[in-house]
Amino acid sequence: MIRTFLFASALLLIAPASAQKRTSKNRRAKAAVEESRTTDSLRSVTAGQAAEIDSLRSLLFAAEHRSAEPEETIAEPAKMSPEDSIAYVQARLQPTKIASTFDTNGVAVIDTLGSGDPSVMVVLYTNNTWKYVRNRDAVKDPTVFDKYWDTSSLFPYREVGMNGIPNSVIIDLVDEHNCYHCPYKGKIHPRGKYGPRRNRQHQGVDLPLRTGDTIYAAFSGRVRISQYNRGGYGNLVIIRHDNGLETYYGHLSERLVEPNQWVEAGHVIGLGGSTGRSTGPHLHFETRYYGQSFDPERLIDFEKGYLCREMFLLKKSYFSIYSNAGQDFEDEIANEEQDKKEAAERAAMKYHKIRSGDTLGAIARKYGTTVNNICRLNGIKSTTVLRIGRTLRVR
Ligand SMILES: [Zn+2]
Repeated sequence: MIRTFLFASALLLIAPASAQKRTSKNRRAKAAVEESRTTDSLRSVTAGQAAEIDSLRSLLFAAEHRSAEPEETIAEPAKMSPEDSIAYVQARLQPTKIASTFDTNGVAVIDTLGSGDPSVMVVLYTNNTWKYVRNRDAVKDPTVFDKYWDTSSLFPYREVGMNGIPNSVIIDLVDEHNCYHCPYKGKIHPRGKYGPRRNRQHQGVDLPLRTGDTIYAAFSGRVRISQYNRGGYGNLVIIRHDNGLETYYGHLSERLVEPNQWVEAGHVIGLGGSTGRSTGPHLHFETRYYGQSFDPERLIDFEKGYLCREMFLLKKSYFSIYSNAGQDFEDEIANEEQDKKEAAERAAMKYHKIRSGDTLGAIARKYGTTVNNICRLNGIKSTTVLRIGRTLRVR
């Protein structure tokens, strides 16, 4: 499942204006990756993330070694490429600040060229700009816009329910082909946060605006709903994104997109208003996954307009109406305990430097352990030639 989401995200669009920014950002991400390679690769993320990444590591490892020969039960760590993937994931899970890309509306396409990569095309525009656009025929997971696709019902995922959702899932928000645009830059109303409100549940954030202000698609995707909703949303647009997330835009004065229409990050999808159950002009914005809402502030800093990270570790616990971006006490406590556990494990580690005449059997006896354990800790076989000077972990 996690693997699916890692790859279900080969996405759309990079603006030339942001291409340079992106390059320096890639350089930074790369530097972070390099750094995490040289230090303990799990040290730079929180312990909670480390645990998630550990399980991801074993999934990736299992997947990459599925075709390995059956008698190869011990892997050689030096040849493990998943290290790179893990470092990449770690760097992308880190908080960062990703600014909006430019708005593409009103610019016509001159030509579409191949890019050498069948999943990516280059589109040239009349204003002498260009960008990478994903070739949607080459999407890794086309089921996103196929399964549970309903252009009239707001909540098509009913049969999935909470039980069908994994405990945590990694969601790609932006990458080299997928951009972000702040849906509306503004200050959240003091009573407009995600959470319980009187006897109701407020499943999104409220951003006060002036009627007619422009509302943008946050990521690329396809419009699922564009209709007047009598339940309180008023004029409502729902977009399903390539990564499986859905974003909701409520109380619009005007809707400027149609169901089934493909949109890009920064596409103008409507104008702000006060339709439906609303006491003044504002955007009601929701983020959902399989129909379950979570606090949009986990993704976006609406006041500054930034996206908070490239990759998002969505936990099932976030779907509680009482769980918001500002309070993660449970997580913090769990992290602290995990940190202590890891520190104790590190303290208990023991190493042995191989000298002339050493054998695995003799080393095992000396440290009161077994040859099998030493092999497991070092990723070697009992037949591996012991190079003098090499350090083995023995505990
Ligand atoms: Zn609201």
